[in-house]
Amino acid sequence: MSQYEIYAIKYAHHARRAAENFIGGDPHDGPMPLDYFVWLVRGHGRELVVDTGFSAAMAAKRGREHLRCPTEGLRLLGVEARDVPDVVITHLHYDHVGNFDLFPAATLHLQDLEMRYATGRYMCHECFRGAFEVEDVVGMVRRVYEGRVQFHDGDAEIAPGISLHLIGGHTMGLQVVRVETRRGAVVLASDASHFYANMEQTRPFPIVWSVADMVEGYRKLRSLAASPAHVIPGHDPLVLERYPAPAKELQGIAVMLD
Ligand SMILES: [Zn+2]
Repeated sequence: MSQYEIYAIKYAHHARRAAENFIGGDPHDGPMPLDYFVWLVRGHGRELVVDTGFSAAMAAKRGREHLRCPTEGLRLLGVEARDVPDVVITHLHYDHVGNFDLFPAATLHLQDLEMRYATGRYMCHECFRGAFEVEDVVGMVRRVYEGRVQFHDGDAEIAPGISLHLIGGHTMGLQVVRVETRRGAVVLASDASHFYANMEQTRPFPIVWSVADMVEGYRKLRSLAASPAHVIPGHDPLVLERYPAPAKELQGIAVMLD
């Protein structure tokens, strides 16, 4: 059976309050910051990056703290972004798709529904388009015309032991990545659950296309993973506390999830 290594690489940070992370706020409101990650999956001669993060310029525009270019984090793990053959784009929000021009060799894996969402009628409303950047979306259209996007319609195995699963909820076409590892199937939830608390307490995140699909998604995440502890939320600083760094000099930057 194919088993892979998985790394979470932190590239940015944002201080905010807990009330901003749940629909209906939080009665015990206090600091609840977000970390921003990209993920690396490798093994059996394969190298796959999940999401591409945002640039320092975008961090300045959106008031986020940029720590390093995601490609620098990859380099610390021995991976050159320009050579990476496959990138999964979980969804087209600015913090997941901003640097894809730094991955010129990559085929980008995207759900049909996500492109439809990002280019269709719902983007007429600020509440749905707020986390999208039009230049990112247009950039993705250009990649389509270059023949560099592989679309998926629902669940798909893209390599032995690596599969994509449509969840929706947060955006119409949000997908998650299931990876076989030596500790069993790990699921990179991306924004299907920003924090452990969203899925564990069934308290949805307020940036949402369909609350129903988001809540159903928490159940799907658990059913895809070897255990609830095998689901990796997309923005939770606890990920860096719960998992070990692959080397001393990578402490606070990257952790091993396998
Ligand atoms: Zn996000």
